[in-house]
Amino acid sequence: MQSPTSSLRVRPPDQAMRFYDAHNHLQDPRFAGTQSRLMAACQIEGIAGMVVNGSCEADWPEVARLAARYTEVRPSFGYHPWYVHERTAHWQDTLRRYLDTLPAAVGEVGLDRWKPGLAYEGQEAVFLDQLLLAAERNRPLSIHCLRTWGRLLELLETHPRPARGFLLHSYGGPAELVPPLAALGAYFGFPGYFAHPGKERRRDAFRSVPLDRWLIETDAPDQRLPDHLQRHPCATSDGSAPINHPANLPAVYTVAANLLGLPLAQLAAIIEENFLRLFGLPTNQPTTASPATVKE
Ligand SMILES: [Zn+2]
Repeated sequence: MQSPTSSLRVRPPDQAMRFYDAHNHLQDPRFAGTQSRLMAACQIEGIAGMVVNGSCEADWPEVARLAARYTEVRPSFGYHPWYVHERTAHWQDTLRRYLDTLPAAVGEVGLDRWKPGLAYEGQEAVFLDQLLLAAERNRPLSIHCLRTWGRLLELLETHPRPARGFLLHSYGGPAELVPPLAALGAYFGFPGYFAHPGKERRRDAFRSVPLDRWLIETDAPDQRLPDHLQRHPCATSDGSAPINHPANLPAVYTVAANLLGLPLAQLAAIIEENFLRLFGLPTNQPTTASPATVKE
């Protein structure tokens, strides 16, 4: 991990912009307890909001703790398809308690037919349970989908959805599916990983996303930008594969602005409006009780 100040640049006041990360995992153990340094870098970069996604019952408490500590953090609780096999018999009760206690989003949830060795069985039922929880409470929902876009579209078309909409995190589906998904309320999350050579098809699909449905994400600690675009390189303490720093978000905005041919400030204003429309729940204000009352 780099020193806390080695690569930080203070933005001149005339360039002050607010950036919003539609999807990350600040609670991830690979950050090894460095969250206060990561957040200090994010604050200097002008990151005004981030949706921090829990992935399983085991990491929901840490997401709640980060939300209590940082006003920028908008908590999200969900069962990611990679971890559905770990769910306990009472996972839905626990999730309901988080949603009833905090003004939280639902996610990361989803469907995955890409990950080698991952069973698909059980994924749809867990996804649909969480889709219903989000729809009943009109909470934003963050969806992971790999290699099963047609089926996801079918399920979304035939089940209740949150009226405020939902995020297709790191949208990797075809351009042809953008209009029908947008009609159902989809927002599309653009990650820095799509700046890599060879991701032209992914970038092309984003050219057909309506501007009022664009969102930008780091997915930190995953989905790193190409090395030359990273302002905040991030190594793991145990020497394993390098990870993505959430303060790389403005660099992802720059990639997106170039793709769209828009000035950065104009894109930042559009994304702010979109982010607040979808994820604009009151932050860090317990709805009925303090986070400490959530039984884990
Ligand atoms: Zn994620």
